[in-house]
Amino acid sequence: MRATVMHSAGDVRIENVADSRIVEPTDALVVVSRACICGSDLWPYRGLEDIPETGRRMGHEAIGVVEAVGADVRTMKAGDVVVMPFAYSDGTCVFCHEGLHTSCIRGGFFGTAAMDGAQAEALRVPVADGTLFALPVGKDDALMPSLLTLSDVMGTGHHAAVTAKVSPGKSVAVVGDGAVGLCGVIAARRLGAEHIIILGRHADRIALARELGATDVVSERGDGAVERVRQLTGGFGAHSVLECVGLEDSVRTAISIARPGGAVGRVGVPQGETLPASQPAFYNNVTVSGGPAPVRAYIEELLPDILEGRIEPGRVFDRVVSLDEVPDGYRAMDEREAIKVMIEF
Ligand SMILES: [Zn+2]
Repeated sequence: MRATVMHSAGDVRIENVADSRIVEPTDALVVVSRACICGSDLWPYRGLEDIPETGRRMGHEAIGVVEAVGADVRTMKAGDVVVMPFAYSDGTCVFCHEGLHTSCIRGGFFGTAAMDGAQAEALRVPVADGTLFALPVGKDDALMPSLLTLSDVMGTGHHAAVTAKVSPGKSVAVVGDGAVGLCGVIAARRLGAEHIIILGRHADRIALARELGATDVVSERGDGAVERVRQLTGGFGAHSVLECVGLEDSVRTAISIARPGGAVGRVGVPQGETLPASQPAFYNNVTVSGGPAPVRAYIEELLPDILEGRIEPGRVFDRVVSLDEVPDGYRAMDEREAIKVMIEF
């Protein structure tokens, strides 16, 4: 079978690899029908994360069809159309019961040194009963782009909103205009935010953010951004801030634009060891929360809104490629030619 392998920064290849197969009795084998390139795949692509000598199998977002299941799989069967969260989890441990599936005791992450990636023709999925979610639609349903975002970006934007304590009537600021930031706008509106400010500077992304519910745009950076958000929020800052980038400057901005007593939900993978803006966070009693989103926990909640057309997170995809075109998809996202790339098989 063919799969995406990253060998070094900027070097992504489609290669023939050993066929994925069932290894543990709790595994499922999934034939991938749609996958994506994630903003976090760009960290190693830009040389900001180490890549193993043998290369890294990429991808952690997918929809596919179950091809086979191990002897102990109970809730999935061959032929089921499933969405695969970016983390696998058993659904039964103490953390899964608390809704924190990304901390599952038997869990882990796809597209890492330890587990193969989803930008491939097929994939072995561990603890399939807990990990996979069977969708009530056919594999070529028109809603597929939006359903695919349940594997990461929509659940991640929602997690940013939940951990930033968004609730009806609140003012919200979203730092970052990538796919997760745009899904953060959708999530904030869905949870009843009245005033949604997006911090970003790319014309196409900002236009989409407005269509998705952003009421104001701040394109300044650093101190200018902080000042502008204060102006837009009666001088105080936003109740809830969604940090959807992960760079030191964006985290600093996120904490600095939170109103006293406000909350910051971080979902951008942090690229620094230390947390910036520790003093404003302290003196303003700002809650700094967030982390890898337990997207598996959110699928049940978000799915009806997609099926019934209330939210359309699939609009973040603005380019569709085949598996052979994946290297060019990385280039397009790296150069910000594309917001988010979907891979169709
Ligand atoms: Zn678990």
